[in-house]
Amino acid sequence: MPYYRTALRMLGASQNPKLSEGDKALQKLGFKIGRNEYFAPTNVAVYFNGKGNSQPDPYFNGEGPERVDCNFCGACMTGCRYNSKNTLDKNYLYLAEKNGVKIFSESEVYDVRPLDGNNGEEGYKVFWRSSTKFFKAKGYYTAKGIIFAGGVLGTVKLLLKLKKTSLPNLSDVVGKFIRTNSESLIGITTFDKDKSFSDGVAIGSILKTDENTSLEPVHYGSNSGFWRILMSPMVEGKNVFIRVMKIARDLLIHPIKNFKVFTVWNWSKRTQILLFMQTINSKLKFKLGLFGLSSSMQEGNAPTAFIPKAKFLAEKYAEIVNGKPMVLLTETLAGIPTTAHILGGAVMGENSGSGVIDKNNKVFGYKNMYVCDGSMISSNPGVNPSLSITAITEFAMSKIPVKPEG
Ligand code: SF4
Repeated sequence: MPYYRTALRMLGASQNPKLSEGDKALQKLGFKIGRNEYFAPTNVAVYFNGKGNSQPDPYFNGEGPERVDCNFCGACMTGCRYNSKNTLDKNYLYLAEKNGVKIFSESEVYDVRPLDGNNGEEGYKVFWRSSTKFFKAKGYYTAKGIIFAGGVLGTVKLLLKLKKTSLPNLSDVVGKFIRTNSESLIGITTFDKDKSFSDGVAIGSILKTDENTSLEPVHYGSNSGFWRILMSPMVEGKNVFIRVMKIARDLLIHPIKNFKVFTVWNWSKRTQILLFMQTINSKLKFKLGLFGLSSSMQEGNAPTAFIPKAKFLAEKYAEIVNGKPMVLLTETLAGIPTTAHILGGAVMGENSGSGVIDKNNKVFGYKNMYVCDGSMISSNPGVNPSLSITAITEFAMSKIPVKPEG
């Protein structure tokens, strides 16, 4: 718990003070399904002071940058343009730079070699190349220690590659125990012109719909409507032919509703994304092939794009906002579920037979090597994981002795 408290402080988390149209509809849904006491505004890493102005650093005794009161524009998912969202460049990275850390952005690490050719006792050579330049700049640094923190799709991909090349002592568990939060993402487009789902912080409330599942309305800012082109009517079925038939049927039975949904002015303003998440565990594994990462089942039931409970809740929500539920074409056509919270792949274990890292985030088989990102998460939290990632990382860092002064 102390590390969760530190994480909350570092991220400047506070309770969302203003419920949006989408949040109020979620609250109504809570009443409708008899779960109203499980509705709550979220804690979000956003600065609110209610005065509409900027303030000198409100979090770190004046050591951090100034912040501006949130204006509830709803664009947090695509990046806050107003200096109100407490992104890492305003807390951890900002303070690190102030303390002498050098940050090399747009640089991708592609190799890590132990200097002693063995377990890294003497340090590492870290090879990098530009991830954005056409004629790629590259080079290397030497380091006494390494922390992998590239997110699941960065860290696990690199570790899978290094296991076969420069870091053979890595556990065979690399790439295994991948979790998806067993999610479903559904867009509800309203037919009411007076409704706006773009107002309010991106995820301003949560409803625990039963002991295993949570539902959150996710806003996008006005005119951030790219997802429109990927939408299809919400259908389910055992195979693609059945689903295509059901889409055709939906288009025939509801031509006007579908026309309105696909041509609605300012899609993001009129569409509420619902994020459905479950603690139910299913484990995938990643493999690195010629075309990058691919996934397959490790154990348990496969995550599915067709979750009856998610469909039920989406339909109830659609009734409340006078809208139509739509899902991603990748779900209806290919049957591929979507996740915003890919986790695991370098999980904790008692030894290298059961995990890639130990309970203090140290990589088995190497010295001074850590993993501190979503790939360390060893269970399915069923909610947004960023606070847990920060808190567990704080715990891991607390085990590293502070360098003596002078
Ligand atoms: S709603 Fe989000 S994007 Fe808009 S000002 Fe507040 S934190 Fe920034």
